[in-house]
Amino acid sequence: MNKMRVDRLLEQAKSQGLEAVVIMPGPNLVYLTGIEVHLSERPAMLFFPVNGEPFAFCPAFEAERIAAGAAIAKVFAWREEEGPAPVLKQALERMGIGGGLLGIEYRYMRVLERELLADAVPGTLRYADAGLLLADLRMQKDAEELALIQQAAAIADAAVKAGHAFIKPGVTESQVAAYIDGELQKLGAEPPFEIYVASGPRSAIPHAGPTDRVLQEGELVWVDFVCLHKGYVGDITRTYPVGKVSGKLAEIYQICLDAQAKARAEVRPGMTGAQVDAIARDYITAKGYGEYFTHRTGHGFGLEVHEEPYIVGSNDRPLAIGNAFTIEPGIYVPGLGGVRIEDDVVLEAGGARVLTQYPRNLLA
Ligand code: ZN
Ligand code: ZN
Repeated sequence: MNKMRVDRLLEQAKSQGLEAVVIMPGPNLVYLTGIEVHLSERPAMLFFPVNGEPFAFCPAFEAERIAAGAAIAKVFAWREEEGPAPVLKQALERMGIGGGLLGIEYRYMRVLERELLADAVPGTLRYADAGLLLADLRMQKDAEELALIQQAAAIADAAVKAGHAFIKPGVTESQVAAYIDGELQKLGAEPPFEIYVASGPRSAIPHAGPTDRVLQEGELVWVDFVCLHKGYVGDITRTYPVGKVSGKLAEIYQICLDAQAKARAEVRPGMTGAQVDAIARDYITAKGYGEYFTHRTGHGFGLEVHEEPYIVGSNDRPLAIGNAFTIEPGIYVPGLGGVRIEDDVVLEAGGARVLTQYPRNLLA
């Protein structure tokens, strides 16, 4: 149990008029308690009452592990013969929960758990999304998290470097992915590995997985992957030339490179996600390729690959010191090819501290 994080959550929950926050197995549970609980067909939830001690509701065979792992004294364990419903009802009664507004995670709670809750509370279940509170807390990385993110980014950097040495005409996208996979394992990253590789005209597809296509002289290939290290992710993209690249491919490469550098250099605390998105987008648009930049400029990362804050035109909330996010503009010209350059940054008082440092201009 991370008491500081739980206290901050409950303070927010209180101000929102919640009676308790209910957490499902998943990243928010890891964030608050440090334990990973497998999400299965057997319901498990942790309850954090605004007034009162936290308690767990879980299958009996998980009870000991959750109690010890999360340092939770009160566990209501249900046995398979009786099913979860009577135990949940009893738990809520005993702990005096269920008369007020419950904070649940809209993104993680299933209809299964919601219906169990609705049956267990007296009267009508009233709930609100506590996911927003947790997103706000998780945006503000603490020192421990920043250290882990930094390590994950360093692994990403090293793997991207190894990948660069492997790129040459004649190898396939799948071979590039397998090679980077092997490097990530050697570097101590944890599976699963998500490695996207796209070359030649396929590189114009922003989220393309590797195929047996053979890399050819004069084209671009980008590699985008996420590595996991002690629960935290690093996320990087580099676009490599295969041999010598010229003409329009070199032109879009340079524009993307400059747009990315501009966003990295100009981002400041207090700017909104939309404003940072606009730095990269306006530059690419001014160069005539705005319609080919078809995704947001970046996303927060940490326990998850995609989390708040999103660097996107619809995000009008200001970014703050301690936010960790990617900056990854791209230009994708159908039939020709595409380029994306992605770095992980942490926002500090003076601007972005860039965690991924492998060179970006690889055309030379
Ligand atoms: Zn990525
Ligand atoms: Zn990304």
